[in-house]
Amino acid sequence: MTWWEVTLLGLLAGVIGTGAGGLCAIFLDRPNPRFLGAILAFAAGVMLSIVFLELMIESMASSGYPAALAGLALGMGAFYLLDHYLPHHHPVSTEDHGQGAFLKKGVLLALGIGLHNLPEGLAIGAGFSGSTGLGLTLTILIGLHDIPEGMAVAAPLKFGGYSYPKVLLVTALSGAPMGLGALAGALIGGISPTILSLSLAFAAGAMLYIVCDELIPDAYETAGSHLSIAGIFVGVTLGIVFTEIFN
Ligand SMILES: [Zn+2]
Repeated sequence: MTWWEVTLLGLLAGVIGTGAGGLCAIFLDRPNPRFLGAILAFAAGVMLSIVFLELMIESMASSGYPAALAGLALGMGAFYLLDHYLPHHHPVSTEDHGQGAFLKKGVLLALGIGLHNLPEGLAIGAGFSGSTGLGLTLTILIGLHDIPEGMAVAAPLKFGGYSYPKVLLVTALSGAPMGLGALAGALIGGISPTILSLSLAFAAGAMLYIVCDELIPDAYETAGSHLSIAGIFVGVTLGIVFTEIFN
């Protein structure tokens, strides 16, 4: 795979994944907040399986666990700092009701998901530097888990009064940074096995941070613990099955 093919695949996984979520949100008349919470939990479960079954395993295989742990710490640390210094979003919380509040939430959420798509793109790009099979598994799984995330972005925009084309455009755009991440992963990951190991684990750390700090707490808040656990279980199961099928 050349770097531009990897970039294109990352971009498509992001834009098609979140865009498909946007379409679902447009067609579903009034997505129930509990349902939105449960599918965010599903996205979290898929991400957890990607972090441990794909990224960390491949990172340790590439150049041993010290580099893998260093990358994990760097990824978690970088997202901790981002979280600290950038405005924060909390998806599908139910406190605010006005149209303006919905729009503001939707736009913040689109920015948040856009940022969150950078390390996921990095995972795809670095994955392809590891092996084509790993890259493809990651592209499919990450693209799939973007559907619920796209729905979470699109629903408040729709209630906030955006026209359907505008909802779709903003939602699909929030997936675009994945192309940039994939490009970085493809360029950096190919330098050496140690760098590959670091970048895979960095993506894992960033994703683990996002799952624990945002997706799971938001799912719990909106869907309650039992529905969230069910969503996480289905997500992790899907991740395991896909890893078995494609690796
Ligand atoms: Zn995600």
